[in-house]
Amino acid sequence: MTHSGSHAAETPLPTIYLIRKKRDGESLEPREIAFLAAGAASGSIPLEQLSAWLMAAWLNGLSLDETRSLTLAMRDSGVKFSPAGLGKLAVDKHSTGGVGDKTSFLVAPLAAACGLAVPMISGRALGHTGGTLDKLESIPGFRTAHSLHEFEAVLRKCGAAIVSQTPALVPADRVLYALRDRTGTVESPGLICASILSKKLAAGLDALVLDVKTGSGAFLRHRPEAEYLAALMVATAEAAGTRTVALLTDMDQPLGRTAGNWIELAEAVELLRGMQPQESEDLRALSLVLAGWMIHLGGHATTPEDGYSSAEAALMDGSALRIFFDMVEAQGGDVAVFNDMARFHKPSVTHVVEAWQSGFIASMDTTALGWAVRRLGAGSERAGEPVDPHAGIEFHARRGARVEQGQPLATLYASSAPMLLEPVALFVNAVVIGAAPPNASPMVSRIFTRESAEEYLRDAVR
Ligand code: URA
Repeated sequence: MTHSGSHAAETPLPTIYLIRKKRDGESLEPREIAFLAAGAASGSIPLEQLSAWLMAAWLNGLSLDETRSLTLAMRDSGVKFSPAGLGKLAVDKHSTGGVGDKTSFLVAPLAAACGLAVPMISGRALGHTGGTLDKLESIPGFRTAHSLHEFEAVLRKCGAAIVSQTPALVPADRVLYALRDRTGTVESPGLICASILSKKLAAGLDALVLDVKTGSGAFLRHRPEAEYLAALMVATAEAAGTRTVALLTDMDQPLGRTAGNWIELAEAVELLRGMQPQESEDLRALSLVLAGWMIHLGGHATTPEDGYSSAEAALMDGSALRIFFDMVEAQGGDVAVFNDMARFHKPSVTHVVEAWQSGFIASMDTTALGWAVRRLGAGSERAGEPVDPHAGIEFHARRGARVEQGQPLATLYASSAPMLLEPVALFVNAVVIGAAPPNASPMVSRIFTRESAEEYLRDAVR
């Protein structure tokens, strides 16, 4: 474990000058960016000034150099973790945010079962997307706030650990992440890149697999924006010394059949038990592809395809499931709740939405579906407020499916009847039933390595 001093500038800079500079479309110098990150971490810059700067950065964008500076300054805003003493290569995966995205619960134990260490530092709900930490905390007793010593102890014991940023670990992101969620400044390639990579680089990773979402449920919906983000993150992480690839993946519908907290964990554990429900097939396939890349980059498979086969073997022989349960126990969680997952699921109210006409599911506004999940209570309205572990949506029909009028499309779970009203309306407006099925989208549409990312960025800035 190492401790790094903060990068605060020696002479204090007036924050108002940095806000005005960004507002007027100029680029900030590394020392100015470092000042902002250090001020966010220490609390010396008031939240209203950080919010104003975030909005200026959102509106005018961050240059490649600014993005790199912000990433490194945020990484260095607190203590860092060094996995060197674990005797294994440290590999992780991170998604840019989607709806129903629970691949972390699968890929972490899968990669660990194949001999790697997976030190995951994750986040809470952001915008319309769910938070890995909120989902895990639906397990009674599960703790996500750990000291670095505890983090290391869980990793040594289980091979995988999933923890939160703390006041000590990447504190700048903890502050900026919560502010972005509340100021409409999430959807910015530079801010997303710095937020994700600061956490990943502070974990001392040897290799990283990025899952960059594109489509109606992604923060950057349009393909060119998602491609830019993927290339930006690969180039930034590689320049910081971490071997990285990014996969552009489909988010034109929720991933798997659930979106919420506990129900997402239950779906992931079904797959870890070797079950293969048809409605979770996209989740299973994507998790194996991501784990395959992790295993390959971590040097335990010659190709990503060989990595996929190793991951699938660990899924089917129960070794990944054992690691997942060990990790839950090591982080204080009660694994007994997985004995009867349906019994543990206790939403106060349940509402089934039926198809209002016959036809095909032509499209799903997945961002609106994500907001419906959040408004059901699966995400908090204010930072620090508790979330409802049992809130969420179970989807019964996928994009492209033929449905008959009256057939159940989804079941919504909430803690009270009034909490259903807005989410039901959001759901009905988000789903279009048409006369013909839509074209199928490939699960993985493009892969960026260091070379292709650098080439892409060279062309993009030309
Ligand atoms: N995940 C993060 O950690 N940060 C973002 O900005 C988006 C997704």
